[in-house]
Amino acid sequence: MDLPYLTISEASELLRKKEISPVDLTKALLDRIEEIDGELNSFITVLRDHSLKSAEEAEKQIISGTYKGPLHGIPMGIKDIFVMRNVKTTCGSKILENFIPPYDSTVVRKLTDSGATIVGKNNMDEFAMGSSTENSYFGPTRNPWDLERVPGGSSGGSATAVAASLCLASVGTDTGGSIRQPASFCGVVGLKPTYGRVSRFGMIAFASSLDQGGPITKTVEDAATMLNVIAGNDPRDSTSVDEPVPNYMKCLTDEIKGVRIGVPKEYFVKGIDSEIEKAVKTAIALINDLGGVVEEISLPHTEYAVSTYYIIAPSEASSNLARYDGVKYGFRVHGAKSLMDMYFNTRAEGFGDEVKRRIMLGTYALSAGYYDAYYLKAQRVRTLIKKDFEDAFEKVDVIMTPTSPEPPFKIGEKSDDPLKMYLSDIFTIPCNLGGLPGISIPCGFSSSGLPIGVQFLGKPFDEGSILRVAHAYEQHTNWRKKRPPI
Ligand code: GLN
Repeated sequence: MDLPYLTISEASELLRKKEISPVDLTKALLDRIEEIDGELNSFITVLRDHSLKSAEEAEKQIISGTYKGPLHGIPMGIKDIFVMRNVKTTCGSKILENFIPPYDSTVVRKLTDSGATIVGKNNMDEFAMGSSTENSYFGPTRNPWDLERVPGGSSGGSATAVAASLCLASVGTDTGGSIRQPASFCGVVGLKPTYGRVSRFGMIAFASSLDQGGPITKTVEDAATMLNVIAGNDPRDSTSVDEPVPNYMKCLTDEIKGVRIGVPKEYFVKGIDSEIEKAVKTAIALINDLGGVVEEISLPHTEYAVSTYYIIAPSEASSNLARYDGVKYGFRVHGAKSLMDMYFNTRAEGFGDEVKRRIMLGTYALSAGYYDAYYLKAQRVRTLIKKDFEDAFEKVDVIMTPTSPEPPFKIGEKSDDPLKMYLSDIFTIPCNLGGLPGISIPCGFSSSGLPIGVQFLGKPFDEGSILRVAHAYEQHTNWRKKRPPI
């Protein structure tokens, strides 16, 4: 049996029936990582010994009759932004190159408590700033469908690892699209939960009012399984919300008759790739055939989303990243003549260009005299964008859009033009500004064989509806069965 190609649901069925063993499954993935990740660079750290020990433990438990549920014995990756006790956690940055945290993030703890095995920490753009995973201190990740192209970002390591069958699933983070856009570029499923649904405790902060962790998987069912485990209120994260967590598996009814689907006209503007437009329109037609009630809607402030995001996110980042000063943890330069020099030199050497650009942008936007003109104004526009969604959700249950305006681009193609790079997230950013849940799933391939994704957005805390619609669509298409050539 080709163990690496299993989905979570297939593997867990076999594990539960003791037809395969957690150790064999983990070994198969570790071998595959060793074989091909040199080319892909989707892991910063591979936890060979740790994961084999954890798999042995899972195996003992299953043999002795303790079955912890659908993640028991499942090998997965995790974006290197989630701290993990006694395991190097870099956030893709030189400044944390040797940082070994003394505690687990809530997401890691919940996964390991449910019996999952973490095989490694996935590559990412430094501090999750980017749309291509080219901004990693540890080198770019490559797209498994075409090694010359980017996997998207910032959770590009996670999406690549899942698409290339190096782990059965991974957890990424999404501040402006970093789960959904790489999922779409790599032909896998990426779910960004509602802000507050999944604990941010131990998830290294980029822009605290936008960041949210969520699963990257091969199927919608697997995303539901993962969300069941990682969702929920956490007293250690004051922004996590005390809302009941439904059993998301129950939402996968394969029945969408009468579900009202809104298609925003602002998401089909000129500039969108014609093959993407065609694939998404075909997907919309299928949703209609399956009984969804499709109607055009308007989200009039969409055009301001990218500029609003690029004031708010860098502002929050400039404040969050002030803690990396060479004193508390992480990298420190040696030989500085004064304390000030030590701060300056540590940050100058420890951070990459994009991170510095964001810190400068954010510091400027927050500075006296500019605060009202930029930050405050951006917050007001954010409210308008949120209000657009509230109005739309009076009329529809789910919003359907392309995930990205373009297919995966060439490595290096946009590195010199940050503004071009920022536009990659034009369809994913509004969802973060509104705090909504969103999911990207495969909906086709371009003529050159590159994956295309479609996105579903839901009301706050209604992950159930987007999972339901995405699952119904997925069950009536075969995109998930295609594998990258690597
Ligand atoms: N690409 C966007 C940025 O660079 C979003 C990143 C993210 O979601 N973490 O900020």
